[in-house]
Amino acid sequence: MCSNELAAVEFFERQRWGDHPGCVHCGSVDVYKMRDAQTGERNNRYLWRCHDCKRQYTVRIGTVFEETRLDLRHWCYAFWRAATSKKGVAALEIKRQCNISYKSALFLMNRIRFALAPDNEDFQKLKGTVEVDETYVGGKPRYRHQVLPGRGTGKTPVFAAVERKGRIRRQVVANVNGLTLRSAIRRLVDTRSRIITDDFSSYMGIGKEFSGGHHRIAHSTKEYVRGDIHTNTVESSFAILKRGIMGIYHNVSQEYLHRYLWQFDFIWNHRNLNDGERAILAVKAAEGRRLRYRSN
Ligand SMILES: [Zn+2]
Repeated sequence: MCSNELAAVEFFERQRWGDHPGCVHCGSVDVYKMRDAQTGERNNRYLWRCHDCKRQYTVRIGTVFEETRLDLRHWCYAFWRAATSKKGVAALEIKRQCNISYKSALFLMNRIRFALAPDNEDFQKLKGTVEVDETYVGGKPRYRHQVLPGRGTGKTPVFAAVERKGRIRRQVVANVNGLTLRSAIRRLVDTRSRIITDDFSSYMGIGKEFSGGHHRIAHSTKEYVRGDIHTNTVESSFAILKRGIMGIYHNVSQEYLHRYLWQFDFIWNHRNLNDGERAILAVKAAEGRRLRYRSN
């Protein structure tokens, strides 16, 4: 599908219309694929025509694809890579693989990351046992010798809350003080949850707001597991994120880091799907998001 334009077009037509292709103008189902009179092949612009309103259209009309003339096979490839690459995918790689300009590749990836952003309107707060932690992500600090151990390296702070065996939400935060981190927890976690953190002082006092309580693991004294009290899930999520960011996105600026978090969270949150299913979900998310913004 990613190497053949006809296959890509038909893939997106199937995602959009299923077995019942309809006219994008009037909704009629009395429509047909236009064909070349000589060869019988599909029209080279993959046009459809409606018997009722007599108008022509393609699968691009009224979708996220309408905004560019880029081949749909490139969109197809970019969606696939963004939704399946656990270590991330750089625009530079899309440029090379699809043989398109860097500017086009950046456009594709930005549109797709935007499509993968969490749905804040329908967001159900995380619940159950929720591990919470913060880390620093991004380029190397400017002066190596000024790097402080542990927290406070001058990179971009990222906050994460993750359900055991469930969903994750990661966010760029302005800082890691108590006010900021506690309000991030309130925003993302259901009050009936049990919160697990390390013994960082910013998390102190949050327990009284959660009926499941707050358990702290004393990393500062090298305690890592106490029964089922640990932050291994959230820490492994950070490890994956950092490998992706460091390995692929050498120049992620603080300004754009949140878009990469959307992409990594999407993959984490749909890790039970196979790659094909996850790519299709990404395509559908792009469409749903566009429709919602248009209807608002
Ligand atoms: Zn029509």
